[in-house]
Amino acid sequence: MFHLSKRLLHGTPRVFNVPRTKPSALRTTWKVASRSVLAAVVGAGAYVSYKLYEEVHPAEQQKQLPAFENGMKKKTLVILGSGWGLIPLLKNLDTTQYNVVIVLPRNYFLFTPLLPSCPTGTVELRLIIEPVRAITRKRKGEVLYLEAEATDIDPVNRKITLKQLTTVHSGHLGKDLSSLRLTLLEDIITHLEYDYLVVGVGAMPLTFGIPGVAEHLTFLKEVSDSIQIRRRLMDVIEAANILPRDDPERKRLLNIVICGGGPTGVEVAGELQDYIDQDLKLWMPEVAEELHITLVEAMPHVLLTFNEKLVEYTQQVFQDTNINLVTNTMITKVTDTRVTAHHKADGTEDEIPYGMLIWATGNAIRPVVKGLIAKIEQQKNARRGLLVNEHLLVDGTDNIFALGDCTFTKYAPTAQVAFQQGQFLAKHLERLHAADELHYRLLREPENKERISRKLARVQKLMAPFEYNHQGALAYIGLERAVADLVWGDWSNVLTGGPLTFLFWRSAYIYMCLLVKNQLLVCLDWAKVSMFGRDISKE
Ligand code: FAD
Ligand code: NAD
Repeated sequence: MFHLSKRLLHGTPRVFNVPRTKPSALRTTWKVASRSVLAAVVGAGAYVSYKLYEEVHPAEQQKQLPAFENGMKKKTLVILGSGWGLIPLLKNLDTTQYNVVIVLPRNYFLFTPLLPSCPTGTVELRLIIEPVRAITRKRKGEVLYLEAEATDIDPVNRKITLKQLTTVHSGHLGKDLSSLRLTLLEDIITHLEYDYLVVGVGAMPLTFGIPGVAEHLTFLKEVSDSIQIRRRLMDVIEAANILPRDDPERKRLLNIVICGGGPTGVEVAGELQDYIDQDLKLWMPEVAEELHITLVEAMPHVLLTFNEKLVEYTQQVFQDTNINLVTNTMITKVTDTRVTAHHKADGTEDEIPYGMLIWATGNAIRPVVKGLIAKIEQQKNARRGLLVNEHLLVDGTDNIFALGDCTFTKYAPTAQVAFQQGQFLAKHLERLHAADELHYRLLREPENKERISRKLARVQKLMAPFEYNHQGALAYIGLERAVADLVWGDWSNVLTGGPLTFLFWRSAYIYMCLLVKNQLLVCLDWAKVSMFGRDISKE
């Protein structure tokens, strides 16, 4: 005992003199690799935590003011819409340079690429909605949001007419809107004046005025459409289930017709077929066996803007999954139970009974845009959207810009185009502000005329035209497969389709979600569906 404590006090005597062995190269590599992985995991965790914290802790904002410190009037920039074009505009614009007011009928941004995944419950609808205030509240300068629909634009008097959709006014408008030139009528804002206006109201579903379309079918453009498709799907399944197998009404109910083989029609067909094969088959095998999807396309093939190899692959996947593809056929009439299909090849017509009809035939101009077109002489040839110049300025105006699906340009109406236009316009508006400020100084400081004019010339030179950088197109086609037509610069074009492309499709869209919170939750939804399947109950 005494000996032991003495040893402890004076340290353990050396007993053996063992030479230290050198760790093997493999062990060293393993150590370095595991430490690097650990560091990466900790780093990524810290980054995600920081981003999540930042998302829910917006900083103080600079309030809106009638004028800048130098006395120059602060211009009112009114933005109509909060879609794919206007979100990047809001994110990139220095909002202290303008009194920014955003007007839109819904207070969120809708992440459309995942909308086809919502009716079947592959992704929860709430997760593809991102509150507009999650962006506006984080800008340096205050951005006012008015929940209203713009019903008219008066380009001469620089004024828009608004229709407020809410009916719950209690006597006061809670906000200090004194910096803005608003017309109030019993607390309802009716008119709003602007110095600059950006129109990004998107498009509405195209129906070609086909009889019966508006009354009997469902589109897939808005949140409400997804809810309606879900409800109708569950209704037809349950209604058919109680009918005998040979009842023609059961056959009708269990036919889902999708009109339009563009990316929307193809993606929703793929998602619905997945639902039938992966979920309904487990719980209602007889119904699942009889539930059919018919996709009707007016042209000889689907996905007109995709490469033909990808089109062939898509059509093959449709054949494998029993999606009934009817091409070269136009739907010309719609009743509550049947569509009339005109086969272009032989000019014949037949009737297809349906239980649910989804209409995805492209974009039409919104009434507010139509109204603006009618007021501007230079827009008289605009048939499919506002005509804009290379700086996205609406032809025939000097202070209205437009972007995205409400314009007609040489580019396809996609989120990708609208997004890049929004980024461009943010920079352009900042340069316009710089130019406005220099013009103001030119009047106030005649002694510095030469210096200011040189600066002005430099700013004007920076106002380059919009250039679109096409990165390709992606679409989900069902059976956990996607197609991708990818472009890298001018020199490379990659065509790919299959399960790996599906993973790429998922990663690409996760990356594009605006909020980290939604990125995490959408991934969790996908994991949940692969483990427990989708829900088959009615909400
Ligand atoms: P939108 O995003 O439609 O936004 C319009 C905004 O204007 C909305 O906020 C709306 O509330 C508001 N608004 C409407 N009327 C008024 C009014 N009167 N006053 C004020 N505000 C108004 N493109 C891709 O590139 N990749 C995809 O994967 C893809 N998937 C899609 C899937 C579906 C189901 C759909 C329908 C479209 C998809 N698109 C995709 C196309 C893409 O969504 C559009 O090109 C894009 O949304 C256009 O952006 P935008 O800003 O012009 O209009
Ligand atoms: P679309 O214009 O791309 O396709 C509509 C299709 O409907 C066309 O192929 C047309 O021939 C067909 N059609 C029209 N009338 C018909 C009729 N009466 N009967 C049968 N077929 C008819 O429309 P969309 O799919 O709604 O897409 C709109 C825009 O959104 C497009 O620019 C598209 O590129 C974009 N979008 C992209 C993606 C993606 O990239 N994954 C997904 C959805 C939408």
